[in-house]
Amino acid sequence: MESFDEIWEMILEYMKTQVTEVAFNVWLRPLEFVKFENDTIVLSIANFKKKVVEDKFTPLILKACEMTMGFPVNLTILSADSVSDSSPESESTASGLSLNKYEYTFENFIIGPSNRFAHAAAMNVALNPGKAYNPLFIYGHSGLGKTHLLSAIKHEIEKNNPSADIIYTSGEYFTNELVNCLRNQSNYAFHEKYRSCDVLLIDDIQFIAAKEATQEEFFHTFNALTNAGKQVVLTSDRPPKEMLTLEERLRTRFESGLIADVQPPSLETRMAIINKKAEDLGIVLSDDVIDFLADNIKKNVRQLEGAVKKIKAYQDVENARPTVALAKRAIADIINDDQPIPMTIEKIMNEVSRSFNVNPTDLKSDKRNANISQARQVAMYIISEMTNMSLKAIGKEFGGKHYSTVIYSLNEIKDKLSQNVALKATVDDIIKNINEQ
Ligand code: ADP
Ligand code: MG
Repeated sequence: MESFDEIWEMILEYMKTQVTEVAFNVWLRPLEFVKFENDTIVLSIANFKKKVVEDKFTPLILKACEMTMGFPVNLTILSADSVSDSSPESESTASGLSLNKYEYTFENFIIGPSNRFAHAAAMNVALNPGKAYNPLFIYGHSGLGKTHLLSAIKHEIEKNNPSADIIYTSGEYFTNELVNCLRNQSNYAFHEKYRSCDVLLIDDIQFIAAKEATQEEFFHTFNALTNAGKQVVLTSDRPPKEMLTLEERLRTRFESGLIADVQPPSLETRMAIINKKAEDLGIVLSDDVIDFLADNIKKNVRQLEGAVKKIKAYQDVENARPTVALAKRAIADIINDDQPIPMTIEKIMNEVSRSFNVNPTDLKSDKRNANISQARQVAMYIISEMTNMSLKAIGKEFGGKHYSTVIYSLNEIKDKLSQNVALKATVDDIIKNINEQ
């Protein structure tokens, strides 16, 4: 198990690739790790450097922590003058801390129809590295468990074979590392490192798609490893065929093993995940609260988890009871403006009718009057943008229209929106109104 000091070293390693050497040595290297508690990393630095580090490097430190630990954290920087080394509190927390409870393993991954295949494929690869499918390519939208599965593979292989040389990295880190090595003319070390491992796990490989030199390097690494029977697992936010700037030869390679997707979880899976996360955090949620969360966050497990964590935080800090009202507050906190909580269809229909001065029932009719058609298309568009409804379900809301009609309408309105600034402004305004209600 990694101690936090080792994790802090990894965080530093990451930051080193992101700033100049001088900046790193002056501002970041001197940071001392104090403790990690309640999702907050506490660091200290000499008082005269504190403000600069806070002002200039907070985003980088947060990003590096998230990249390394796999979840977002808060940051507190103390002045070193106020931190005494012998403080029993900081000592006990700093030393014994393991990331155990944050580990992404197969055991704490909830399986449902949306991820069963990807989970089985990941498990298979972890149990038979280099022998099952090579590469395994896992793709899906953000927050659906790709990093969790990739990490679980790492842990499982480590457990079964502690001496396996596993590299676990991200497309972004791989790229930065390569750039640094090219700059320092240490390409050889880079080649050696990547081509001699037993297992290469790269998260968010889509990042390399736009970078020519990285693709070239990765292509050779990939070939060397797979030819030697070493396992490669990649995750991406989209399938290879949709990685438009990916070189053809890499696309062919990515598609040559097994491709598995992760989809948004079903209702039952969402409920199981909420239960599990609550249990892990040691809180008890009523069925009402679980239903509410599962109903309102449908597309993103990270957000589901975030909501449960928020509820726990309110409970700890304010002594608040985990009611539906509290859950509402928690959701409002974690879902930012571009990912609104699912709106009721009715609200959208009403707002659109008002704005276009048509009757709400007309939206659901077959009337072809230009203004009504336009309003109907706008309503479909806003619903498709703001909710998780399938095209089929949207069609149903509009008097049982076939989903091909919905696709047609959506394409048409998207065209119009790209050409008609006034219409676009109207639509933005409607969305804003709905968000503010
Ligand atoms: P991605 O890499 O696809 O963006 P992550 O793997 O980082 O998503 O998952 C986001 C959060 O949701 C993580 O904390 C992860 O543990 C959790 N999570 C996702 N899917 C599951 C699942 N099926 N069971 C348990 N936790 C999950
Ligand atoms: Mg991820």
